[in-house]
Amino acid sequence: MDFDLSPELRMWRDAVHNFVAKEIKPHAAEYNAREEIMWPALQKGGQQLGLLGMTVPEEYGGSALGALGMAIAIEELGWGDGGTALVVAAHNGLGCAPIVMFGNEAQKRRFLPRVVAGEPGQLAALALTEPNAGSDLKGIQTRAELEGDTWVISGSKMWITNAGEADYIVTLVRTSPERSSHSLSLIVVPTNVDGLHVGPPEKKMGLGTTHSHAITYDHVRVPRENLLGEVGHGMYQTLQVLDGGRISIGALALGIAQAAFEEAVAYAKQRMTFGKPLAARQAIQFMLADMATEIHAARLMVYHAAWLKQQGRPFSHAAAMAKLFATEMAERVTRNAIQIHGGYGYSREFPVERMYRDARLMTIGEGTSEIQRIVIARRVLSSMASLF
Ligand SMILES: Cc1cc2nc3c(=O)[nH]c(=O)nc-3n(C[C@H](O)[C@H](O)[C@H](O)COP(=O)(O)OP(=O)(O)OC[C@H]3O[C@@H](n4cnc5c(N)ncnc54)[C@H](O)[C@@H]3O)c2cc1C
Repeated sequence: MDFDLSPELRMWRDAVHNFVAKEIKPHAAEYNAREEIMWPALQKGGQQLGLLGMTVPEEYGGSALGALGMAIAIEELGWGDGGTALVVAAHNGLGCAPIVMFGNEAQKRRFLPRVVAGEPGQLAALALTEPNAGSDLKGIQTRAELEGDTWVISGSKMWITNAGEADYIVTLVRTSPERSSHSLSLIVVPTNVDGLHVGPPEKKMGLGTTHSHAITYDHVRVPRENLLGEVGHGMYQTLQVLDGGRISIGALALGIAQAAFEEAVAYAKQRMTFGKPLAARQAIQFMLADMATEIHAARLMVYHAAWLKQQGRPFSHAAAMAKLFATEMAERVTRNAIQIHGGYGYSREFPVERMYRDARLMTIGEGTSEIQRIVIARRVLSSMASLF
């Protein structure tokens, strides 16, 4: 058993950390206040580090990192800015991954090389959620019907990250009327087609540097060959994509928690009350000790889930556990980081209030905490003796 990162992964962590410390963290407050996507950093990160092609094989222009390398990168990005980390995580894990995993050679050549550079308008997105269906994906109503060699898509989606800046949107559609696992399919929809309307960015609680949008599909016509894999495989494909996405969201939450923890430690050392620094008070020390312990536990869980994925072993339940624990941990840690800052913690002058707002999404997106518990409980109650 070896808990050390390989020398390559340590170098990768340092490279991403240094990049984020220089190009992202110092600008996070300003970009979040303007609710603006951090394009300069995304472009540099795409070109210098391959951050926009982490799930994409090299022959299509990507950097083809393993699951551990990607988790580490998302963690570091989350340490710098939650919103920018979500842009990158959604692009790689939700937008590119379905084409990498289920696309044929022609689809990979057509769609992937265009989206790996981090250029405005060339991100990738995945549209699952609808106004009336999120956790319950079998309930989606967006329909696709085949007319000759063309899919005609009608319906609406909600909350789609990167949709306003996407080159294409992988869309989960109903290809058969009955409520069953075999009624859904994934179709790649280029964003320049007639009938596709992407709404303005939604007004959100946090994560100002990532934008999520409502979309309507008004008889959108795309060629038959834009279907990923086989008709009726969409639910099965989506669940596989979400398993990987959950490792990313766990890693992102971990990065936010690490950043809030560092702020809390620094503040506790310099803030004086009753003639002593806060860090001398046992009540504050215990809070910091709990934060450090929970961050460590979450990091082990996220890396373990990523390692299982990288080994080609089953990892769904490990990813669900890692996402559940890391995201709920990030809520506790960012909450206590504010507590340690007292009144200043509630001020926009200090970064911990932003981290608290950013962390709040993580127990909701890519499967809520309740859905993770359902996945884990199903496994615990199944006949499979061993969890890993
Ligand atoms: C900022 C942001 C970005 C997003 N990005 C994307 C994206 O890129 N693509 C995309 O497709 N979606 C995206 N989403 C949508 C997100 O994935 C959904 O909001 C999430 O899956 C929950 O679905 P819902 O909002 O419909 O809630 P619902 O499914 O209506 O759930 C409401 C509440 O009920 C609980 N609940 C539901 N069913 C059960 C049950 N059986 N047992 C117990 N509790 C249950 C849920 O856990 C939740 O607490 C994004 C959302 C946000 C806010």
